[in-house]
Amino acid sequence: MDFTVSDKMKTIIGMIDEFVDKELIPMEPEFMAKPARSLLPAIEEKRKLVKQMELWAPNHPKEYGGMGLDLIEHALVSEALGRSPLGHFVFGCQAPDAGNIEILHQFGTDEQKEKYLPPLVDGKIRSCFSMTEVELPGSNPVMMDTTAVKDGDDYVINGQKWYTSSADGAAFAIAMVVTNPEAGPYLQASMIIVPTDAPGFNLVRNIPVMGHAGEDYFSHGEILYQNCRVPQKNLLGQEGHGFVIAQERLGPGRIHHCMRWIGICNRAFDLMAARARDRIIAPNRKLATKQIIQSWIAECAADIQAARLMVLHAAWMIETVGKKEARNEISMIKFVVANTMQNVIDRALQVHGGLGMTDDTVLAFFYRHERAARIYDGADEVHKVSVARRILKGYEGKKVR
Ligand SMILES: Cc1cc2nc3c(=O)[nH]c(=O)nc-3n(C[C@H](O)[C@H](O)[C@H](O)COP(=O)(O)OP(=O)(O)OC[C@H]3O[C@@H](n4cnc5c(N)ncnc54)[C@H](O)[C@@H]3O)c2cc1C
Repeated sequence: MDFTVSDKMKTIIGMIDEFVDKELIPMEPEFMAKPARSLLPAIEEKRKLVKQMELWAPNHPKEYGGMGLDLIEHALVSEALGRSPLGHFVFGCQAPDAGNIEILHQFGTDEQKEKYLPPLVDGKIRSCFSMTEVELPGSNPVMMDTTAVKDGDDYVINGQKWYTSSADGAAFAIAMVVTNPEAGPYLQASMIIVPTDAPGFNLVRNIPVMGHAGEDYFSHGEILYQNCRVPQKNLLGQEGHGFVIAQERLGPGRIHHCMRWIGICNRAFDLMAARARDRIIAPNRKLATKQIIQSWIAECAADIQAARLMVLHAAWMIETVGKKEARNEISMIKFVVANTMQNVIDRALQVHGGLGMTDDTVLAFFYRHERAARIYDGADEVHKVSVARRILKGYEGKKVR
């Protein structure tokens, strides 16, 4: 494998690093202290700068105004942007829009693409993805109660979803709903585009997560679909193919997420090392002289390196042998990187003592918000079970000495 980073990517990453340091990190104290909506005008100004620098929407197709980077190139960008909680949103490559753009591009009709892709890629509108239900296990999404029933030219949707991230202020949701209850478990659900101003689409609340309900992009909505009526032409892809499309979101989306988490690790690690270097713990003694702290620093550096290489390897596998062959790698990075991140943030926070618990650094924000990484995008345990199952299958009838 070739680990060389191209000159083009070195230039791009250098520009992003500088932008994150100069423009985004200084905004973070305000971002953590104020309602998100009050910061939108300032964020819009930053987005304009990103567009002027021609770094907008790095992962999206050029034909829609993105940079058209490939998977590994965008992985490096995602790592650089992950250092700030504002990074991906300011550069127009944030979830869940990124995944929605991918599936609209791949499965949308010409009319759907024309209507939604240009404003979505341009950042003029936002979207959300509405699959998890309040009463049923998100870990086993074939168990789904929300239905879409045909009535004339429309679908009528009924059900209750939650954790529809960024629903507040979104222009539309891509909702996963049961359209074919008589079919096999993986062919019952479809994805349907639901404009948030459709009658019967109700944002009940932004769910408080770790003490913070958030708002606008930075929120997680509970949605009640009450006789919500949308035209049948809003169906995305084929009826009953919701899970087929969902599979398509998985590989590249996982790489983006995991590299964002590596970016968070890098930031937390920098803060930890700098604090250890500077904090006087006894006369003429810095915290960095303590072996236990040195051990944490060495372990975290090695863990981040290992996790990062696993993600880049998984991206390389996707690009060279395809998603199906890379299934184990795609699952393994999910739980390895989420746990590495949690451990690195925790140690960085510990090294900061009381300061780590405040919002005077970004660590407490990361600690609250990134715990969810072990739950969303498939809980760790679900990935571990499926990796183990596949590995064990390879041992069936295999002689081992
Ligand atoms: C911050 C955040 C953002 C999210 N954003 C979105 C979004 O935008 N759109 C959306 O649709 N959903 C979203 N989700 C929902 C997320 O996908 C689900 O929470 C996740 O799939 C788990 O489902 P659940 O919460 O119903 O937990 P359950 O399915 O009830 O599982 C609970 C726990 O049981 C264990 N478990 C489950 N299955 C197994 C198994 N097979 N073997 C062993 N242990 C198991 C795991 O520890 C798991 O954490 C988000 C969640 C969070 C926290």
